[in-house]
Amino acid sequence: MDHNSTTYRIKNELWSDNDKDRELYNLPLNPSSIHSYGRFAREKLENARIKIAKLLDVDTGSHEIIFTSSATEANNLVINSFNDKDVFISESEHLSIYEYKKNQNITTVKVDENALLNLEDLETKIKSSKPKSLLSVILANNETGAINDLKAISKIAKQMGVLVHSDCVQAVGKIKYSFAELDIDFASVSSHKIGGPSGTSILIAKKGFIKPMIIGGGQEKSLRSGTENVLGAVEFAHALEFATNNLGKYAEKVLNLRNSLEKKLGSKAIIASQNASRLPNTSMLIMPNANSQTQMIIFDTSGFMLSNGSACSSGKIKESHVLKNMGYGELSNNGIRVSLGINNTEEEILSFCDKWEEVFSNFNK
Ligand code: PLP
Repeated sequence: MDHNSTTYRIKNELWSDNDKDRELYNLPLNPSSIHSYGRFAREKLENARIKIAKLLDVDTGSHEIIFTSSATEANNLVINSFNDKDVFISESEHLSIYEYKKNQNITTVKVDENALLNLEDLETKIKSSKPKSLLSVILANNETGAINDLKAISKIAKQMGVLVHSDCVQAVGKIKYSFAELDIDFASVSSHKIGGPSGTSILIAKKGFIKPMIIGGGQEKSLRSGTENVLGAVEFAHALEFATNNLGKYAEKVLNLRNSLEKKLGSKAIIASQNASRLPNTSMLIMPNANSQTQMIIFDTSGFMLSNGSACSSGKIKESHVLKNMGYGELSNNGIRVSLGINNTEEEILSFCDKWEEVFSNFNK
């Protein structure tokens, strides 16, 4: 029930039409090598890039697809590329962007009670700044699932001469997605959130703006040096194809499950972003008088693996800046995120709800 952290790999299905690619596991694949294995690796890598571009609807004439090790790196790469200009970020960004708020060139833009970007604040802040450069706003929030109206946001930003980046990590594979239709300039997408392997991601980038953070051998057109993860890229492309082809089935299944969950819990549960357009699989449940860490331990011992949505490498639970910026005050420590996947069942939902009600009663006597 923590699929927004990492989604199951549906390996058999993923590989069914691609048995030949299994052979890749046994080959020395360095796309920079001149010999035949190298050329073979280059072909696989470039085919994966083309496939990803097609599936995400990216015009490769005007934009690059840069392979990175993670979406964290992709997000860092785009923000760092504008470190000498004014950059606007929303208050509900993932930490791989939000942590930049400490930098002098960064201005944070308010979000509303649903974690969605406050357009008035955006306009005011962009108007009063010079030189204008980049706005970074998450498409679907990783904690609450709230979906920003990126097309409308992009229109406002562009009218004022600001380029737009979006962290699309949670949206891709869960809702219909077209980079071209969103009319943005940069986007980050991660493989392991859509059933592909971890350790591979992309930054889609308008040509001519990215300043490399990792320099060396000049791979990825010198925008991100280091030998490319060919297998990762190939599997990422397969996973994206699988997720795209099965989007309808997936969305219907997880939405039905989430509807039963929220109906069963009723008004006792405070559900963040409930009135906004949301990812079909995500429900951020806030329980008064029980902090996230305590809840997660209790649920884990009953077999329910959950998170509060803002992963931290130390395993410690930090207060959610997203809930805080939505105005939840003390309750910002009390959220747990249920993020469903295609393999979850109605029985699991029912037994989770029973457990949730028991925990709620214990902490709210
Ligand atoms: N952006 C969002 C919205 C995320 O949910 C995550 C991971 O949870 C990331 C970025 C970071 O992705 P990665 O794990 O590939 O670094």
